Parts: sequence; structure tokens; C-alpha cells
Amino acid sequence: MTVLDPRLSAAESPLAPLTVITPTSMDEALRLLAAPDAAVLGGGVGHTLRRHDRRPAVATTLVSVGSLPGLGDITWSAGGVSIGAGVKLSACAADPRLTAAWPVVTEAAGSVATGRIRRMVTLGGNIAALDDSHDPPVALTAVGAELLVRGTGGSRTLAIGDLRELRADELIEHVRLPLPTASDAVRSGSAYEKFLVRGVWEYACVNVGAVVGLGADGTAVRLSLAVGSVTGGPVAVDLSELLGAPFDQRLVAEAAGVAVAATRPYSDVRGSAAYKSRMIAEFSRRALTAAARRAGQDPSAPAVPGGNR
Ligand SMILES: Cc1cc2nc3c(=O)[nH]c(=O)nc-3n(C[C@H](O)[C@H](O)[C@H](O)COP(=O)(O)OP(=O)(O)OC[C@H]3O[C@@H](n4cnc5c(N)ncnc54)[C@H](O)[C@@H]3O)c2cc1C
Repeated sequence: MTVLDPRLSAAESPLAPLTVITPTSMDEALRLLAAPDAAVLGGGVGHTLRRHDRRPAVATTLVSVGSLPGLGDITWSAGGVSIGAGVKLSACAADPRLTAAWPVVTEAAGSVATGRIRRMVTLGGNIAALDDSHDPPVALTAVGAELLVRGTGGSRTLAIGDLRELRADELIEHVRLPLPTASDAVRSGSAYEKFLVRGVWEYACVNVGAVVGLGADGTAVRLSLAVGSVTGGPVAVDLSELLGAPFDQRLVAEAAGVAVAATRPYSDVRGSAAYKSRMIAEFSRRALTAAARRAGQDPSAPAVPGGNR
């Protein structure tokens, strides 16, 4: 046998030892996280992937936060719903009250990988990984979620779009969602659409979340669209110019055009940038249409006479 390189291959090299600590209070967790080699442990899926890469481990101490009081609960109040960062994606996806309020969020959580993986991945870990193709952050951007984060300096609130401001010594405690607007004057619906090139579990080629609010006369009073798997994603698409117009196929087509103009896809194994732009248009149309149907209006139905712009 000819040995070209006597060093161990990446696959043979031993893994660096790792310490996992389960604190019993938030104060203890924050004290532990202040160490330079410490990182938050959610479900551990992302940490495990990184260790399989056999790259030098960044963190040698993992501080498990999933079992801290309150971080594993979904709680409701008059102001909205608060999802603990330690809640597993499987629990988010299966929550009936959350599905009734924000199907866009439960559909996104339920679209992640496989049931086994969803039972491990936490909402906080999925968000904190800062991966533009992750599904829940796209839905949370469409909904206008906020993150309650905690560090040794205290607590603060971050808009989901400002997630990159999360500091290394801070952890996400809760994800807060407003309640959908629903009254006699406004009907609301939301939907999540994910395009998988191969049709099996994998990261999205394109993922889109939409929230639609409709006035009694069928005009758009709220339009939120978020697009993932693009540069700087998830991108919140500004559709304010279309508010006040009848929610019909023309509006949906215009919104899809705005989404394409507002996003910069990159070419990768899931498709060229040009192909993804076409998919962004198509899946924006689908998400907005599905959200409107949930709000009780079908934009593909024949227009009401005099209702067109
Ligand atoms: C086969 C496979 C398929 C996948 N498919 C998808 C998919 O389709 N869609 C998708 O969205 N994702 C997918 N993922 C990715 C998965 O959602 C991420 O790896 C996710 O980050 C794992 O979450 P976790 O709770 O296990 O986090 P961990 O591995 O514990 O942590 C991930 C990162 O977040 C930090 N962190 C964890 N919790 C917190 C917190 N509360 N506050 C601050 N920082 C925190 C950690 O320090 C670490 O940096 C897939 C993963 C695998 C293995």
C-alpha cells in the first residue's frame, strides 16, 4: 500500500471533547454562556452537523436551554402568542390553536425535514442558525414576529428582521407573534409555500410566507410577503403600494412582480438565479392566493362588475 499522506484523514480524526451542561435557571445559563468557548444548545441538530464536518469546533461547552422554565411552552394572552425558544418544531406544527391563528407558521414548521428531525429541532435553534433557507424564519417574517432575547445585560426585543444583531452572549427566550387581525371589518388568512426541486425532504429552492387582510368590500388592507432562500433572506417584500386595491388576480400578479424585483436569488444546486426568480413569482402567487382563500376570498373567481381597477 502506498501511503501518500500519513496524517489522519478528516473522517478518521478524533472529535474534540465536548461538555454539555443543563442549567436549572436562566441566570445560571447566562453565567455559563459568558465563557468564550460556550454556546447555546437547542435541539443539537445544527451542532451535530458542524461536528460531523470535523472542522475545528468553535464551542467546547454547550449550555442546554430547552428545559429552562417557560422556554418549552406556547402561551396566549390578549396581546398575542409567545412561543418558547425551546419548543420543538413538531410541537409548533401540531398546535391546533396556532394553526387556527397562523397557519403560515405551523405549515413552515411542519415543512422542515422529517418528523424525526422536527422532534429534535427547536424554534430558537432554527432561527438562531441564521440560515436564509430555513423555513420558520420566513413565516415569522411574514407575520411580523419579535424575539425576546436575554443576555447578562438584561432583556430586549428584536424584530425578526434584526436577528443578525443577536449578540454571542445573548439567547433567544421567546418568539412573540401578534394575533391576526379579524373583525367584522377585516378578514385574515395566511399561508406558506415551499418549493422542493426533488420533491423529497431537503432545503427549499424557494420558500414564501404570505399574510392577507381583506376589508368587507374585498380590498387588500394588509399584505405581508416574505421570501426565503435568497441573498439577505428572509426578505420582507414591501407591498404597501397595493394596499386599498381589490384583491384580485391582477393584484396577485403585481405582488409577484414586486417580490421578484425585491429579491436577489443565488445560483446553486437547487437552480440558477434566473430559474429561482421565476419560482419566486410562482410561489408568491400561490402563497398570496392560498392566504386570500383562507380569508374567504378567491382571487381567481370572476371579478365583481365594477370591482376592477
Ligand atoms: C437532514 C436535515 C434536514 C434539514 N432540513 C431543514 C429544512 O427543511 N428546513 C429548515 O428550516 N431546517 C432544516 N434543517 C436544519 C435545522 O433546522 C437546523 O440545523 C437548526 O438550526 C437546528 O436547530 P436545533 O434546535 O437543533 O439547534 P442547535 O443545533 O442546538 O443550535 C443551532 C445554533 O443555534 C444556536 N441556538 C440554539 N438555541 C438558541 C437560542 N435559544 N438562543 C440563541 N441561540 C441558540 C446554537 O448555539 C447554534 O449556533 C435540517 C437539518 C438536517 C440535519
